[in-house]
Order: sequence, then structure tokens, then C-alpha cells
Amino acid sequence: MDFSLSAEQELLQNTAREFLSQECPPGLVRELYDDPKGFSPELHRKTAELGWTGLLIPEAHGGLGLGMLDMAVLLEEIGRAVVPGPFVFSSVLTTLGLVQAGSPAQRETWLPRLAAGQAIGTLAFLEADDRLDARGVRLKAKKTKHGYVLSGTKMFVPFAEVADVLLVVARTSGKAEQGVSLFLVERQAPGLSLTPLDIVDQTRRVYRAEFQQVAVPKTALVGKKDKGWKIVARLLDAACVALAADSLGGAQKALDLAVEYTKTRTQFNRPIASFQALKHMAAEMASDIEPARSLVWYAAYAFDALPAEASRAAALAKARLSDVYARTTNRAVQMHGGIGFTWEHDMHFWFKRAKWNEFAFGDATYHRERLAQLEGF
Ligand SMILES: Cc1cc2nc3c(=O)[nH]c(=O)nc-3n(C[C@H](O)[C@H](O)[C@H](O)COP(=O)(O)OP(=O)(O)OC[C@H]3O[C@@H](n4cnc5c(N)ncnc54)[C@H](O)[C@@H]3O)c2cc1C
Repeated sequence: MDFSLSAEQELLQNTAREFLSQECPPGLVRELYDDPKGFSPELHRKTAELGWTGLLIPEAHGGLGLGMLDMAVLLEEIGRAVVPGPFVFSSVLTTLGLVQAGSPAQRETWLPRLAAGQAIGTLAFLEADDRLDARGVRLKAKKTKHGYVLSGTKMFVPFAEVADVLLVVARTSGKAEQGVSLFLVERQAPGLSLTPLDIVDQTRRVYRAEFQQVAVPKTALVGKKDKGWKIVARLLDAACVALAADSLGGAQKALDLAVEYTKTRTQFNRPIASFQALKHMAAEMASDIEPARSLVWYAAYAFDALPAEASRAAALAKARLSDVYARTTNRAVQMHGGIGFTWEHDMHFWFKRAKWNEFAFGDATYHRERLAQLEGF
């Protein structure tokens, strides 16, 4: 059995790690914590030059035409560096929505721009009741002579303020899966207003998006009217894989930081790393992280190659990594003692990102329940 990455994936991993250590050090993360939009256009441009924004986009539309496992390898590095910005929501979710269900015209308009880093997209899915199933989709899209009119409110829309286009999950009829449709809405559309929401993790800004009679043409519909839930379900699986990969990288980095710190911090005339209590904590963290890696890689592989397995593997990876990242960052803070609790130390960037990743797109309890349903338990 060969569980290793390909030579190309290893190259991507090494390039990403090196690039991000230079271009997105903790100093930049700290700077972007104070930035009103939490986003660096320059870093985005540079990642586009490396092809990352077009990684999942077919070559015919200016991308690299790679798959979810390659993306997971990259996202692990992005999580390791707690890179602030809309990458997951634009270059994974909006991109996949268009790649999988966009009309030829939508693909031609948006994919080359997304690949080149000239446009940013985001997914507007959740509503006030925070439901992840189709019944939670209530924002109305009413059919008119010229297209549709959207009315309602979306919550926690990531990086809506820097997005050029929102992929909006709306209700065109019914109450459950039948009757869900997707629309592309430009951020500047009249009637769309955004309000930033207070959030602990400043690397992942979120907004309330209010749609007051937002008129879009017929060509804004992505996929078929009323049949959008299948696409949404696929995007939710992608989100689980993406956040699990980000969490994996972040957890590994938290462990690395904690171990490094305990080797240099001395108490009672010896490095605190020599105390058994801390060695055990580090070993438990490592034994949490190591098997999680294969879960993430398998979920990413299944997303592309094993359709019957994809949802189950995504739920399993998200459930496990939600727990692992939260537990690892918690322990890493403890290993740092009082300094790990302070604003001045960088540790809180990972601790807070773990909180975001833990709850976004369903926490561990939600995905364990989902897994039980998928398995027929
Ligand atoms: C919220 C908060 C408020 C605080 N308020 C105050 C305050 O008002 N006044 C004040 O004086 N201080 C305050 N402190 C500081 C606090 O007293 C120290 O953080 C605490 O005593 C731990 O010391 P340290 O930070 O130097 O950690 P360290 O001693 O460096 O410990 C780091 C890690 O090593 C472990 N460790 C250390 N020695 C051993 C050992 N011998 N065996 C096994 N494990 C070991 C610790 O358990 C910890 O996990 C505060 C800290 C926090 C987090």
C-alpha cells in the first residue's frame, strides 16, 4: 500500500509552506486582524500567480485543473499559516459551484477571472436559524418576467464585502430539498446590503447580507430551477473537506509551536519540555493529529473519485478534525502557560481559527449524527 503524496503534491506542499512562511508570517496575520476587511489584495494576487486560485478550475478556463486532494494539501498549509482571507469560499466553494453546475456563459464569465485572482466569490447559504439542511433555506427567489427577485437575509456570509459575486442559495418553491435554487448575485446589485458581524476569529470575516427585492436576470440561475439542493449538498461536503484540511494544518502548527516553546522555556532550572506532564500532553496531541491526516486525505480523494463514499468521508473528517483542532489548540495554550493566553503571543490565532472551523458547516456532534444516518445506524 502506498499512502504517500505524489511528487507533484509534495512539491505543492513544500512550495506552499515556503511561500507562506515568507509571505504570510504571523506579523501579517496580526496586521490583518486590525484591517477593516481582514484581507490582503497583494497576498491574493501572489497566490493567483502561483495558480492556487485556479487550482480546481479546468485548464480550458485558465486554471490548473487539479483535484480536491491537491487542494487539501494546499489547504493544510493555508491552515498551518492561519492565512486570513476568502480563499476557501472563493477558490473552493464558489469555484466548485460554477465548475459543477454553471452554464457555459457563467463559466466563461467567472472562472477565468476567479482563476486569475481578478474576481472573488463567496457562498451565501446559512440563515438566521443556522440550519444546514434544505429546510433552512428560506430566502425567496420569485420568478418574474425578466428573471428573479430575491428577498430575505443570509447570515455569516464569509468575506462578502470583498467578494465580487455571491453564490446565493434560495427558495424558488416548496419547503425542503425540492425547490432550492442557486443564483449568482453581484455584490453591487441594488437592494443588497452587508453588515459585518462580530466574530472571535478575525481571519474569517462574516457578514449579514440582506436582500431587499434584489432583481437578477434569468441567466443568474446556476443549474436548474428547484433542483439546486444536490449542488448545495456537494458544496457542503467540499466545505467539510476544506475545513478539515485547514484544521489539520493548524493543529500540526499548534503542536509544533507548543513543543518549540517548551524546549526553550525553563522553570526550576530546566526546560519545561523535560517534565513528563508536558511530554504526555504533546504525545496525546501527536496521536490525535497523525491518524487524522489519513482521514482528511481520504475524504479529499473520495470527493473526486468515490461519489458513493464522499459524503460519509467528508462527515467523518469534519467531525474528527473539529474535535482534534479544538483539543490541540486548547492543550497548546496550556503548554505555553500564561503567555499563551495573551494577545501579544501568536497562539490565539490558531485557537480562534479552531473555534471557527469547529462550528462552521456543522460541528462534530452534527456530523457524527449525519454519519450515523448515512451508515444507517
Ligand atoms: C488569565 C490569567 C490571569 C493571570 N493573572 C495573574 C495575576 O493577577 N497575577 C499574577 O501574578 N499572575 C497572573 N497570571 C500568571 C499565572 O500565575 C501564571 O501564568 C501561572 O503561574 C503559570 O506560570 P507561567 O505562565 O510562567 O507558566 P510556566 O510555569 O512556564 O508553565 C508552562 C507549562 O508548563 C507546565 N509546567 C510548569 N512547571 C511544571 C512542572 N514542574 N511539572 C509539570 N508541568 C509543569 C505548566 O503546567 C504549563 O502547562 C495569570 C495568568 C492567566 C492565564
